[in-house]
Amino acid sequence: MDLKKNKSFVYEQVAQAAAKAGRPASDISIVAVTKYVDSHVAEQLVNLGVKDIGENRVDKFLDKYQTLKDKDLTWHLIGTLQRRKVKDVINYVDYFHALDSVKLAAEIQKRADHTIKCFLQVNVSGEESKHGFSPEQVDSALEELASLDKLEIVGLMTMAPITADDRELDEIFKQTNELRQRLKERNIKNMPFDDLSMGMSRDFPIAISNGSTFVRIGTSFFKE
Ligand SMILES: *Cc1c(COP(=O)(O)O)cnc(C)c1O
Repeated sequence: MDLKKNKSFVYEQVAQAAAKAGRPASDISIVAVTKYVDSHVAEQLVNLGVKDIGENRVDKFLDKYQTLKDKDLTWHLIGTLQRRKVKDVINYVDYFHALDSVKLAAEIQKRADHTIKCFLQVNVSGEESKHGFSPEQVDSALEELASLDKLEIVGLMTMAPITADDRELDEIFKQTNELRQRLKERNIKNMPFDDLSMGMSRDFPIAISNGSTFVRIGTSFFKE
């Protein structure tokens, strides 16, 4: 595995996708998802200039955090979080990408000692197996979240179904961005709704063309 080459390739592809969409590359944060590798390899990636680290599981997040906490990094928890684990991890998290219930938000409010930037996870494709709010549920959830001052709702996160083709991906990302714009117009305190966490190794160019500001990339960094 040639980390340096893979890293350059990912950054170039993101810059190209941004240029094609008429956006500055600096609009897009590249979150390196290190779940496939140990802390040592994650550290090599950080030494190559990666600034944003993402993990989908609490145990692996804590493992990477222990090793790399003295580096100047932004920490992303990107996967489903069980309520009973909130207290173990939340105070090391800068961005939480998978807020999928009001109950979870209330637990974060209770345990957090700083403002946690959160993405509401939404499921616009209606796929049964996916976590997240449906577009119909989101508005009433916002009413309940509005009083939780430890959470800043920066935007929406979505995961497209594995089976989606390019046209379906384009549609899902477009709808997610439209939903974000609509929610932004509600002008709720602590809910700027400026960001979109969408796009993984296989679909980030399509996500960027639909306004994504945070791409979560694992496989492309670590492939042989
Ligand atoms: C693993 C993971 C990613 C990265 O996926 P790749 O296809 O490896 O780039 C992104 N988001 C979440 C929530 C993940 O669990």
